Formats: sequence, structure tokens, C-alpha cells
Amino acid sequence: MSTLNDFNFKEKKALIRVDFNVPLDEHLNVTDDTRIQSAKNTILKVLEDGGSCILMSHLGRPKANEPEFSLKNIITTVEDILGVSVLFSEDCVGENAIQMANDLKPGQVLLLENLRYHNEEKQGDVAFAEALSKLGDIYVNDAFGTAHRAHASTSIIAQFFPERKCFGYLLEQEIISIDKVMTSGEKPVLAILGGAKVSSKITIIENILEKVDHLIIGGGMSFTFIKAQGGSIGDSICEDDKMELALEILRLAKEKNVQVHLPVDVLAADDFNNSANTQVVNITSIPSNWQGLDCGPKSKAIFHDVVQQSKTILWNGPLGVFELDTFSSGTKALGDSIAEATKNGAFSLVGGGDSVAAVKQFGFQNKVSYVSTGGGAMLESLEGKTLPGIAAINN
Ligand code: AMP
Repeated sequence: MSTLNDFNFKEKKALIRVDFNVPLDEHLNVTDDTRIQSAKNTILKVLEDGGSCILMSHLGRPKANEPEFSLKNIITTVEDILGVSVLFSEDCVGENAIQMANDLKPGQVLLLENLRYHNEEKQGDVAFAEALSKLGDIYVNDAFGTAHRAHASTSIIAQFFPERKCFGYLLEQEIISIDKVMTSGEKPVLAILGGAKVSSKITIIENILEKVDHLIIGGGMSFTFIKAQGGSIGDSICEDDKMELALEILRLAKEKNVQVHLPVDVLAADDFNNSANTQVVNITSIPSNWQGLDCGPKSKAIFHDVVQQSKTILWNGPLGVFELDTFSSGTKALGDSIAEATKNGAFSLVGGGDSVAAVKQFGFQNKVSYVSTGGGAMLESLEGKTLPGIAAINN
């Protein structure tokens, strides 16, 4: 694996694909700068070596170069985070970009305009990738959030830097963290899969059964498993057409000696809102007109024990409707358990969509080993796919 530390950037121009696709409010202020913070160490390493940085990213999904998707909007945030002033090129390719890149002095940072102002970016256009490649001496990919896309700047461009390409610190860390769970993690390895639907996680479950000793299936998707085994789940969310598959997964797990832990009780509600009436019931006997929206106290205790026994933990998906206070305690309790296990030496990776939101909501970011920055990229990694952005550096 070729990484940033394999290179000395003295008097070199690093062309860095970052993921600065940050959320902006209606006044175009950055509301969450996590992704910019995450790229800071990579950029500073290049500057400290005596090199310069050309930063390229996409922002949002522009259709006609709308100004709200301009990377100009984030310049001051980038400057505040890096502590250096940032030059800006109004186009990511073309004469002006080339001139500005050529003029760049050691210690300087140039930010390019939104890559997706050019359709060629998403099309993975080779000529566009080649035009971008002219701007730098060494290509660095530090954008995990787009590593699952074979776009011009994330993957195609790498061919123009045969011996001069590497991962940035962030992407390196993501790869190491996923590897710890999928191949090199200390046993027992535990995966916790929650969230709404079985259908969106099937490939992950199938792939993960090869890797783990324990599997906790929680949240909305657990009801398909419970109903498939004959339980009464009332009005809880369920995918009837996935019940056969759920039984097949349980059979496969047994064959592979993976211990599956499903909730045994739930906090059921008579409506889907914070002020609904609630009761704790056995998960196999939820009354009709009631739906399970969080795991119950016995399930929390069982999951806590499994988490404490584990040395490597992957968490993807909430155990209940954590966005509503009334149904957030199962997800929060799981976060507490993982934080405790981490403190006691376990490695914990949280990744993929809503579990990251939950971790942030409950303030667990610094109490787990690693919080992934990529949603789709993380999910595809867990499915066992080779990500184009990673393959392009490794090949
Ligand atoms: P996913 O995107 O598949 O990870 O699903 C995340 C969503 O699942 C969150 O918005 C949760 O509110 C929702 N969820 C979790 N548990 C339940 C449940 N028991 N019933 C309905 N939705 C749930």
C-alpha cells in the first residue's frame, strides 16, 4: 500500500483528491466541517515537507454550475482549519488552473472549483482526468467518501501517475480500520447490524458471515427474522418477501458457527411519534396495532454482554428509531457498551450512514476507535467489493 509517508513532497506539487462535500446552510455557511478537518493532516504533511497542495473536490450535485455548489463558499472554512490562506481557481481544468498550479510556491494551497461542474468527472472521462493530472507532480487520494466511484478524479486519473500516487492519511486509516474488522481483527469479532431494512443489508450480512464470530441483528430489520420464525410482530416494520432469505441467513450462520443475537424484547408503541403510548413486550408477541420501535431492557443487557466479550466490533445501523427521543435509548445504550469495550481494549469501527449520525448525536465520536467518513464507500467495503478509488492506487 503506497501511503503519504512513502513520499517527500519537498518542492513537489501534490494533487490531492479530497472530499470537501460538506453541508451548507441557506446562507452558504458550512454547517459541519468534519470532512475538511479529516483532510487536514494530509495537507499539512505536504506543506511541512516543503511542498504545495492543489486540492480538488466535488460539492453537491450541480446540474448547471449553480453558484450554491461553488467551492468558493468553503474557502474561509478551509483557511481557518488549515491556518494558511487558500488560492482559488475558477475552473478545475484549463489555462488558468495550469497557470495557477505552475505559479504555486512551497507552502501554498490552491483550491480548484467544483469538479462536477464538468460532466466528464462523473463519466470517468479519460481526457478530463489527463487534463487534471497536468496540475500536479504526485497524486494523492484522500477522499474515502467517493472511493466507491470510478470518477475521473477518484480513479481514472491515477493511470497518469504510475509511480507517483498514494493514499492520504484519511484514506489509509479507513483502509486499515476496515481491514481490522474484515481480516486481521483480534477475535472474537462482532458485527452489529441495525437500521430499517434487511433488503439494504443482505450483501453485507452474507459477506460478514464469513468474517465474524457474533452477529447482532437489531432495529427494524430484526422483525423480518422474528416473523419468519413464527413470532407475532404486530405492526412492526417487516419485509415479508425477505422472510425466506432471513431463514436462509440463520441457517448459514449456524453452518459457519456464527452466533446470531436477535432482540428478545422491544419497546412497542401505538403510534410513530414521541408522545405515543409505549409498553415493553416480548418481541415474539407484540400486540396487533403496536409496533416495536426500540429494543427492550433484556435485549440491551444481552447485547451489552456480547459487546463486552468482543475484541473487534463493527457497528452499522441503529437499534431503534433513535431520531425520536422516546425510542433512542437502545441505540444510546449500545453506544455506551461499545465505548466501554473500547476503553477496555477492543477495536471498534462505526460506519455507514445512520450509525454515524447516532454516534454524533450521542457524542460517542471520541469513545470508539474509528468513525468512518464514507457512507456508500463503507457499505460497499463491508459487502466485500473492491473500491475503484482504492484499486487505482494499488494497481
Ligand atoms: P438504515 O438506513 O437502513 O440504516 O436505517 C436507519 C433507519 O432505521 C433510521 O432512520 C431508524 O429510525 C430506522 N429504524 C431503526 N429501527 C427501527 C424500527 N424498529 N422501526 C422503524 N424504523 C427503524
